[in-house]
Amino acid sequence: AISKETREFQAETKQLLDLMVHSIYTNREIFLRELISNASDAIDKIRFESLTNLDLLAGDSDFEIVIEPDETANTLTISDNGMGMIYDEVIDNIGTIAKSGTKAFLEKLKEKEAAPDNELIGQFGVGFYSAFMVADKVTLITRAPGQEKGVKWESTGDGRYTIEEFAKEKRGTTIILTLNEEYRSAEHPGENYLNRYTIQSLVKKYSDYIRYPIKMNFIKEEKPRDADGKIIEDEPAAQVIELRTLNSMTSLWTRNKNEIKKEEYDELYKNLFHDWEDPLEIIHSKVEGTVEYTTLLFIPAHAPLDFYQRDFSYGIQLYSKNVFIMSNCQDLLPEYLRFMRGLVDSPDFSLNISRELLQHSKQLKLIGKNLEKSVLKTLENLLTKDRPKYEKFWKQFGEAIKTGIYTDFQSRDKLQDLLLFSSSRSADELTTLDDYVKRMPENQKVIYYATGKDYASVERLPQMELLREKGLEVLYLFDRVDEFAIDALREYKEKNFQSISRGDLELDNIDSPEAKKDAEAVSKENESLIKAIKEHLQDKISDVKISSRLKSSAVCLVSDDKGISLSMEQILAEMNN
Ligand code: ADP
Ligand code: MG
Repeated sequence: AISKETREFQAETKQLLDLMVHSIYTNREIFLRELISNASDAIDKIRFESLTNLDLLAGDSDFEIVIEPDETANTLTISDNGMGMIYDEVIDNIGTIAKSGTKAFLEKLKEKEAAPDNELIGQFGVGFYSAFMVADKVTLITRAPGQEKGVKWESTGDGRYTIEEFAKEKRGTTIILTLNEEYRSAEHPGENYLNRYTIQSLVKKYSDYIRYPIKMNFIKEEKPRDADGKIIEDEPAAQVIELRTLNSMTSLWTRNKNEIKKEEYDELYKNLFHDWEDPLEIIHSKVEGTVEYTTLLFIPAHAPLDFYQRDFSYGIQLYSKNVFIMSNCQDLLPEYLRFMRGLVDSPDFSLNISRELLQHSKQLKLIGKNLEKSVLKTLENLLTKDRPKYEKFWKQFGEAIKTGIYTDFQSRDKLQDLLLFSSSRSADELTTLDDYVKRMPENQKVIYYATGKDYASVERLPQMELLREKGLEVLYLFDRVDEFAIDALREYKEKNFQSISRGDLELDNIDSPEAKKDAEAVSKENESLIKAIKEHLQDKISDVKISSRLKSSAVCLVSDDKGISLSMEQILAEMNN
């Protein structure tokens, strides 16, 4: 047998440990997530190995992670019945840093050549060593299957650790944290890691989807019951210990799509994204290839109250093999799809990845591209296959899609077919650009649009008269972003957009040559009238023209071809007020 030895940590590890111990970083609670995820990894390992070597389990196949706070010893213990480690593995895995995430972290530190800031630690998970953020002493006792003896490793984070052989009855790893007094004070329940409810909520927050049960004993005071199950009030209460599973383990998205009921998706959506209404649409897909990931996305049925506010927090949740990494990852979807809720789970994501690194991650870019594609595909399908549902979506999030047209140049082509407009054809039916173009008479060269406050006010525009008479359909734009979108598009299927209150209406090819001649003649005859009006209005206007676009109205205001449109002027005027 090997007697107890004291060893030095590898230089890099020392550096990291020092950081953990002296860190003034506030988000220390993540230590629990790290230890639980290690336990889960260790169980994954033995489960996998046991597929080809059943003896390994030695009858113990009820995989579990157990958390035990001990108020008298001031310890928090996390145990698993996973793979455990042999002596040399403890030295290799715990005493040295091999992980890419931690390496990157340290490189970042060197690069900065400055004192470590809290931000940096928050961005990286630092695995096992994060235990030293809350513990004065960390003890690890482990035994691998088939080994007679276990190993005990212990360190106070001072650069050295001890290691020795140690008797351990059950297979797996037990980690005992002797908590620093700051992290076991009843005065700060949120940071009291002996408090069962604090632990419970941390497990819910970070580790709910861990595939193995995470169990903890709760101690309750309970009065005994009689034979009928009624509480006997006169008897004194006794302590009852109840072992509860803290996590729901419902990593729904890893299951087979056709085995999942709609209600299950709905429930998960409402729980994860704090909505009271079922989602409008669910996108669930598993992708295997250059990157491997599962995604579960939801189109909400309604826009949150703060959706159109600038500081609306959006983004997708990231998981790696069921372990929560972060919420609101904004790098996975373009901003115009910020209404989407959902998650991406990929074994390729590192738990220790920083937001900064994420932004430069090629995998993430690739996944992002795929997600955008599949969201757009879903919307396209809705539009063609379930128009009422699509219109429900449009009512809530149409503005976001329109914004995409003028903010996201690359997606413009795909987005334009998702647009819906009101039109002169019908007061209650919306039309796509495609349908509008399909209805255009052959000699109509442009797509007409009019802007206004609502349907009735656009209908009343003097300019509408002529178009109506000629049987030409006009798109009605009520939303201020409509016009930005139209301006950004400029054309659809080689047809330009033409505002009916802007410059010439290009009705030439629709007007007969005779009608044109007539108009010219009328202009000549009325030259003196035009001159008089111009003199009277002076610089309030830029030109006066005899128009063929009016029927019963005597006069109308139009903006010129190059200038901004009338409604845009109105918006600007409103903004200046
Ligand atoms: P990572 O989990 O990213 O590898 P950690 O610092 O969290 O990094 O853990 C370092 C290594 O220690 C793990 O890779 C694993 O080999 C070993 N280890 C940690 N916790 C356990 C455990 N509960 N059971 C078995 N091995 C463990
Ligand atoms: Mg880890």
